[in-house]
Amino acid sequence: MSERNMSKNHISKDKIPTKDIQKNAVSKDRKQKAAKNGEESPKKSGTAMYRIMAALWMVLCAVLLVRIWSLNHTIESLKDKIGNLTRIVMEQRDRLEKLAETSDAGPDNSPGQGEKPGPGDAGREGTEPHERKQAEGQENSLQDGNPQTDVAAANGQGIAGTAEQDAAHKVYLTFDDGPSESTQEILDILDRYGVKATFFVVGREGSQAEENLRKIVEAGHTLGMHSYTHKYDEIYASVEDFAADFEKEQAYLLEVTGVESTIYRFPGGSSNTVSEIDMREFAEYLDSQGVRFFDWNISSGDGGSFLVPVEMLIENCTAAVKDHGTSVVLMHDAAGKTTTREALPIIIETIQAMDDTVLLPITDDTLPVQHIQWKEEK
Ligand SMILES: [Zn+2]
Repeated sequence: MSERNMSKNHISKDKIPTKDIQKNAVSKDRKQKAAKNGEESPKKSGTAMYRIMAALWMVLCAVLLVRIWSLNHTIESLKDKIGNLTRIVMEQRDRLEKLAETSDAGPDNSPGQGEKPGPGDAGREGTEPHERKQAEGQENSLQDGNPQTDVAAANGQGIAGTAEQDAAHKVYLTFDDGPSESTQEILDILDRYGVKATFFVVGREGSQAEENLRKIVEAGHTLGMHSYTHKYDEIYASVEDFAADFEKEQAYLLEVTGVESTIYRFPGGSSNTVSEIDMREFAEYLDSQGVRFFDWNISSGDGGSFLVPVEMLIENCTAAVKDHGTSVVLMHDAAGKTTTREALPIIIETIQAMDDTVLLPITDDTLPVQHIQWKEEK
């Protein structure tokens, strides 16, 4: 062996153990570091993570299941409550209708806030039991001989076109007890659908109320009277008291709007059981003044002190329209009647979708709907 070879062998012999030693040393060092840092081997740590994640998902699922179950429970109990409330509303409505037959005038249901509280006993007429009493025949029998003036027409209370007047079903939306904080919204809705209606207003004072009265007239709706005070015990105390209230209101409306109204709606309707004086005496007084009174043959039912559900209002206002040639629909213009305002667009849409049916304002040509027979008694 040459010296060179010997030297090579010597070197290679030396090199092998050195490399192994170095490798072992590095791996040992890593293990020590890992142990120091508290790490496990990659395989071991992956399994642990998986377990933790799985456990977390299971906890989450359990929480979600409990939540779903509790929500279902809540929904069921809410359904029960809604059912109970609807039943209570229906019971209250029946009760109020019965009360309207027998009892005296109640307190005002909701005068507009921000307005002078002048008129008192507002809005019982919605619960009158006589609302469907009026038959078409009666309307016709009452029309003849009612002296009419041209004042309303002369003051811009428009008369609808003849094509509309020929429709088989004429529907007159009427709003009692305004003006109120609702008036503007009602006017906006009517305007949106191009509908003219009739407002039977009370003697509400203040700049806002007066502004609303003017807006009613300017928008082309018919302005009707509904007494100045709306206090049953005052207006029905005697024909003289009734006349004084009537004159005050007619003069007030003329002063504010420039319109001398010639139509009237009795608070509580002509069939109210509050007045101890025969309502025919008041009817004859109005007749002597060239004023016609209008009751209603369809009631929205919104005259009580509770809120009638929107669906019920729509049903009440539209279901019987096809049964009448002339439908006078009673609704209320009062701040608290939020569902009336909600239902109004749908009521209008439903009626507008009916064949041969038109929505009109009350004019001198409108057949009066009256609950009492009074002409024949003379
Ligand atoms: Zn009223």
